[in-house]
Amino acid sequence: MKSLGKNIIWVVLSLTVTAMLFATLLSFDTKAPMVLSLDQVANKIISGEVKDMTVNGNDISLTLKTSEKAISHKENELGISETLKNYGVTPDELQKIDFKVEEDSGSKYWMGILLPVLLPALLMLVLFWWIFRQAKSGAGQAFSFGKVNARLFSPSKDKVSFKDVAGLKEAKEELLEIVEFLKNSKKFTAIGAKIPRGVLLMGSPGTGKTMLARAVAGEAGVPFFHISASEFVEMFVGVGASRVRDLFEIAKKMAPAIIFIDEIDAVGRERGTGMGGGHDEREQTLNQILVEMDGFERDTSVIVIAATNRPDVLDQALLRPGRFDRRVVLDMPDLKDREEILKIHSRGKPLDEKVDMRVVATRTPGFAGADLSNLVNEAAILAASNNRKTILQEDFLNSIEKVLLGPARRSRVITAKEKEITAYHEAGHALVAAALKDADPVHKVSIVSRGMAGGYTLKLPLEESHLHTKAQFIADMAVSFGGFAAEQTVFKDVTTGSSSDIQNATDVAERLVTQYGMSEKLGPRAFGKTGGTFLGHDIATDKDYSESIGTVIDDEINGYIQRAHATAKTIVTKNRKALDAIAAALVEKETLEQEEFYSLIKKFGFKIATLEG
Ligand code: ADP
Ligand code: MG
Ligand code: ZN
Repeated sequence: MKSLGKNIIWVVLSLTVTAMLFATLLSFDTKAPMVLSLDQVANKIISGEVKDMTVNGNDISLTLKTSEKAISHKENELGISETLKNYGVTPDELQKIDFKVEEDSGSKYWMGILLPVLLPALLMLVLFWWIFRQAKSGAGQAFSFGKVNARLFSPSKDKVSFKDVAGLKEAKEELLEIVEFLKNSKKFTAIGAKIPRGVLLMGSPGTGKTMLARAVAGEAGVPFFHISASEFVEMFVGVGASRVRDLFEIAKKMAPAIIFIDEIDAVGRERGTGMGGGHDEREQTLNQILVEMDGFERDTSVIVIAATNRPDVLDQALLRPGRFDRRVVLDMPDLKDREEILKIHSRGKPLDEKVDMRVVATRTPGFAGADLSNLVNEAAILAASNNRKTILQEDFLNSIEKVLLGPARRSRVITAKEKEITAYHEAGHALVAAALKDADPVHKVSIVSRGMAGGYTLKLPLEESHLHTKAQFIADMAVSFGGFAAEQTVFKDVTTGSSSDIQNATDVAERLVTQYGMSEKLGPRAFGKTGGTFLGHDIATDKDYSESIGTVIDDEINGYIQRAHATAKTIVTKNRKALDAIAAALVEKETLEQEEFYSLIKKFGFKIATLEG
C-alpha cells in the first residue's frame, strides 16, 4: 500500500516535469528574443533587415539578417498582410522576405491537444492517491498484514498523569514502583534486581485501566504502545503472532518503553475448555506474547501492561512468575472517589455555584469512572440545549438516569390507565422499602419511562458494602415484590410489568439457598457446580445432589419467595392510604425526591424503618 502511494507520487512528478520540459523546448530558443512593436516590425521589413518571418496565430516571430531573433504581437481581427499594410508595408516588400503562416502549430498546437487529456488524467491520479492515503489511515489496516498495528503515544503528547486519575490509591502506589523502574532502570539492575516484565490491571469496565496505563507512561516519560488484544486476532491466521513479534521488536529498540495490551482476555482466555472449538489463532498469539516475555533479557526495560475485566477466565500460563506476575486491582470508585472523578471531569466547565458534586456522587453508586465522565458530558449537553451558560445541579441530577437507563422517553405514549398502574407499582416498591429496616433507603421514586424499564425506584445503600447479610437479602426480595403486591391489592389483577422483579427475587432466593448456605434446613452447603465458561458466561450447572435434596431446595426457594411476597402484600394492604397518596403524587409529578416521599408517607403515620436501621 505504501509503495503504491509512492509510485503514484513518482508518476505525477515525472509527468509534470516532462510536460514542463516539452513546453520549454518547443516555445523558446536558448537566447531570449527581443520584443518589437508592430510599427518597428514594419520599419524593419521596409528597410530590408528581416530575413524571415513566421506568423502563428497572433504571434509573430522574426529572424533578422543579423540572425537575431525577435517577436511581436498583432491585433486579433486583421490578417498579417492587412495589418502590415496599415503600417505602410507593401505586398512587394513582404514578398522579399521568407514569410510563413503557421496556423495553430508548434508547441501551442500540441499543448492544446495534450492539456485537455493530461490535466484530467493528472487530477485523477492525484485524487486516487489521496483516496488511498485516506483509506490507509482509516480502515485500510488490511493492507498492513504482519505489520504492527499499535498506536504509539509519545510521552510528551496527550500526556496523562496520575493527577488526572482520581481515587485508585492502592493501584497508583503499586504502579509508582513501575514508573521508578522505567525511569531509573540502571539503579535497579545495578544491584541485581529484576525488572518486572508484566503488570496485569484488573477491574470492571470503565474503572480507568486504559487511562491508568497511559498515566504510567506519562509519569515515566517513555513511549507507550497501545494495542487491543482483539486487534491481534481480528484478521487472518498467523498474523496475530507476527504482529506480536513486530511489536516487541520495535518496543525493544525504543526501550525503556511500555507495551499496553488492552483487553487481553481476547487472546488470553483459558485454553482447552473445548468451548467454541480450539481457537488456533488466539493460542498462537498468546503463545507469542509469552515467548516474547520469556525472551526478554534481564536488562530489557520494556514493561508489558495488560488490562482485563475478566481475570477469572485468564489462562494460568499468563500469570506465572516472569510474566504477568504483578497484579493490580482497580476497584469501582467509592463515594469520595466519585466526587473526585466528577470534579476532574468538570474542570474547565462553567459550573453554577450551587452545584454540589457530593450530592451527585451520592446519587451515583455503581457508576464507574467512564459513566461519571459521561454524566458530566450529558449535563453539559443538557445545559447547552437549554441555552444556559452554566451547568446547574439539576442538569447533573437529570443526567443520572439518562446515563443509567438510556435517554428518557417522556414522549412515549402511555395511557392514563398504564400511568396509574405504573404509579401504584412503583409506589409499592418504595413503600415496602421504607417499611423494612434492612432494605436500602429510597432516594427517588419515578414513573418516567426510560430505556427498557417502565418505571423504577431508585434505592441506594446507605454505605457501600461488599458483604450482604441474609436479612438484607430477605428485605430485598420483599421490596422486589412491592410492585406486584401493590398491583394485586389495588387492581385485583397483575401486569407483565413485574416480570423482571420476579426474576430478581427468584435469583436472590436461589443463590441464598444454593450458594450462600443461608437456608436453615439445608445448612451451609453449596449445591450445583458450574462447569465451563462460554463467552464469559457460565454454562451448564452440574447437579451434584440427590433428587430428594433437589426437592428440598425447591421447597426452600419457594418458601423464601412466598414469605417475601406475603411481607410485601401485608405492608401495602396495611398502608393503603399512603400507597394511594404516593401513587396520586406520582401520577401528578412523575417523580418524587426522597424528602417529598418521606414527608408524604409520614403524614399517614408511616414509620420509616430504614432510617432507624
Ligand atoms: P477501562 O479501560 O477500565 O474500561 P478507561 O480507562 O477506558 O476504562 O476509562 C474510561 C474513561 O473514564 C477515562 O477516559 C476517564 O475519562 C474516565 N475515568 C475512569 N476512571 C477514572 C478515574 N479514576 N479518574 C478519572 N477519570 C476516570
Ligand atoms: Mg479500556
Ligand atoms: Zn417493579
